[in-house]
Amino acid sequence: MRLDSVIFGGGAAGLWLLDRLSRDGHHVVLLEANALGAGQTVASQGIIHGGLKYSLSGLLTRSAISIREMPATWRNALLGRSVPNLTRTRLRSDCCYLWQTESLSSRVGMLGARIGLQVKSEAIEAEERPAALANVFGTVARLPEQVICPASFIADLADQYRDRILKIDAQQGLQFTLGSPGEVESLQLTSPADGQQLELKPRQVIFTAGAGNARLREMVGLSGDVMQCRPLHMVLARGALPELHGHCIDGARTRVTITSDIDCDGRTVYQIGGQIAEDGTSLEPLALVERARAELGEVLPNLDLSHVEWSTYRIDRAEGATSNGARPDSIQVLCAGNVTTGWPTKLVLAPILAQEIASRASSPYISSAFDATALNDWPRPDVASLPWEDADRIWWTIPEPSSASRRRAA
Ligand SMILES: Cc1cc2nc3c(=O)[nH]c(=O)nc-3n(C[C@H](O)[C@H](O)[C@H](O)COP(=O)(O)OP(=O)(O)OC[C@H]3O[C@@H](n4cnc5c(N)ncnc54)[C@H](O)[C@@H]3O)c2cc1C
Repeated sequence: MRLDSVIFGGGAAGLWLLDRLSRDGHHVVLLEANALGAGQTVASQGIIHGGLKYSLSGLLTRSAISIREMPATWRNALLGRSVPNLTRTRLRSDCCYLWQTESLSSRVGMLGARIGLQVKSEAIEAEERPAALANVFGTVARLPEQVICPASFIADLADQYRDRILKIDAQQGLQFTLGSPGEVESLQLTSPADGQQLELKPRQVIFTAGAGNARLREMVGLSGDVMQCRPLHMVLARGALPELHGHCIDGARTRVTITSDIDCDGRTVYQIGGQIAEDGTSLEPLALVERARAELGEVLPNLDLSHVEWSTYRIDRAEGATSNGARPDSIQVLCAGNVTTGWPTKLVLAPILAQEIASRASSPYISSAFDATALNDWPRPDVASLPWEDADRIWWTIPEPSSASRRRAA
């Protein structure tokens, strides 16, 4: 089958790009090795950042600059006013909240929120506070950063392009024929369902497979050593908790970022990231859970955590490598031969990555309409499950800390 483009990886980056190239008239197919969004996207917190998190030092950093147009781009897509149409993506919240701990440096961090971003925080009155923040110290600000359910976003885009998304066996069922390193002439697929064969002859190949990009690059004779993985150890808490989406800041650091959702049994689930997930990489799950329990006791002192169940999951952020191993300022794109490799760095930057890759792509060369009939019998990937819906997940309960230790923590 002759194609303009083949995309590897159906996370935020690959699916946004699939939409873009399809609209540009490309004959394009996306290949997914696991479940769609199975790497980072479905495990992410789904915050459509506007750059504020990256400006807490008081400076308009390069990260903040690259991200600042994104809330409007996503908002329009979510409303169906621009493409891709994301009207079936579930919005968890239309805004995030920003609150602080008692230290002076935290208040300095709050000031950092007021620099030149398009997303600005706005202090709210006591009666406007969400229940979870009713009694926290100091100012609470509202940020116009939306929070989406990443699994529904993936499903929304995938449903629009089901005819051109294929499940592959990337270990046993994928072979490249190369003209030279980085010059793919064709690829041979063996169906993971019934062993049928398919040959694809694309003019260009795009890797947006997150952590899978390194291996794919090696398979086409390119260096895999251009990627970095920064680990996180995220915390989950479920129970009778009030809805909450926001960041507790301490100086220039995000002490915790909490987003919430309702699980399939109707419980509220908190997904807890931020500094605690960075620091938690060296901790065993139970030790991290105990730390998170104490941390929530401090940042949300009036929250009743007595019947909450806790869990954790480890996940790597996969990005283009930087010289010092720090988070890249923006998207990363590498081109060699007819192979392009991309990492969005943030979910919110998927539109910029798609725009960049599409602008570098050659024009579509097949003039007829895309006909997916030859792909009809090929297996399709599912959408990955949210981390808290994993049936094998272990949940812990932690005894209420004694009032003495609780006082020390407060
Ligand atoms: C815990 C956490 C929270 C985050 N929260 C936010 C947030 O709130 N806001 C934000 O903007 N960003 C956030 N991010 C970052 C964001 O999730 C990522 O930048 C983004 O999801 C990366 O998308 P991706 O499509 O490049 O990769 P992935 O989502 O990792 O998708 C890669 C896809 O490629 C597939 N794949 C792998 N190997 C192969 C192969 N050989 N062949 C075919 N397919 C393959 C995988 O199965 C997967 O479906 C967070 C990240 C983490 C880890």
